[in-house]
Amino acid sequence: MTSRVKRQACAAAFAGLLVLVLAGCAPHPAATSSPDSVASVPPTPSSSATSSASASPSASASPPAQADAPSFNKKLYSIDDPTSIWVVVDKLRPLRPTNYIPKLATLAVAHTSPPQMTAESGAALVAMFAAGAAEGAGGMQDQNSYRSFVTQTNTHNRLVASLGEKAADAQSARPGYSEHQTGLAVDIGTVPNRCAIAECFGRLPQGVWLAKNSWRFGYILRYPADKTAITGYVYEPWHFRYVGVALSTEMHTTGVTTLEEFFGLPAAPAYAG
Ligand SMILES: [Zn+2]
Repeated sequence: MTSRVKRQACAAAFAGLLVLVLAGCAPHPAATSSPDSVASVPPTPSSSATSSASASPSASASPPAQADAPSFNKKLYSIDDPTSIWVVVDKLRPLRPTNYIPKLATLAVAHTSPPQMTAESGAALVAMFAAGAAEGAGGMQDQNSYRSFVTQTNTHNRLVASLGEKAADAQSARPGYSEHQTGLAVDIGTVPNRCAIAECFGRLPQGVWLAKNSWRFGYILRYPADKTAITGYVYEPWHFRYVGVALSTEMHTTGVTTLEEFFGLPAAPAYAG
């Protein structure tokens, strides 16, 4: 990268920082001096993750769906294993290990930072964006998806140094506590970019469509407006979490909107210490 291009990238990253520093969604510092290897991965728009794009999890990931199935099996997948599509990460449930790195695929979607997620969640995102466009919601892009432990550490430390820990915690998840580190979460933006990482995203056609339809693709709106006391995060109409179609459908059907409530976990309004 030439120094001129790098300066432009830094300027863009800084401009993004002004609007992106919100709870749980502090931005990837893009192509700055981060030692994070993710920043150096070129966001190529071709990927095996999309060649077989599908909104459904693999057959082996789907629970039995017989008509006489007595009830949804809440123990089908682990909520502790970071490789599980049901892993629950919140302020009381850090990833184990905290420096976990998922297996990532680069997605063929519009993006503002390296569009990386797990292959399964990424394929579902591609399908969701295509369906949204086809159904009149408009264009969408990956505003920010995977963030590494190293990136999160750098971002958080920088905020702690300038603002103190309390203010830093309010703006950025502690390293090891961000859902973005799982490779299963994505902040979605519009094309062209409007209301990026802002509450008004929820009122745009894309935000309205996603809130209504993301479950069809295995995604849930992870931080609903009325569940801050449970999730520990303010309303984030742009932040979606992949859990697979079986679970998202069950949550949609039963009207339970948070993973904490669905799995009977304690509310996680704040860190333990
Ligand atoms: Zn987010």
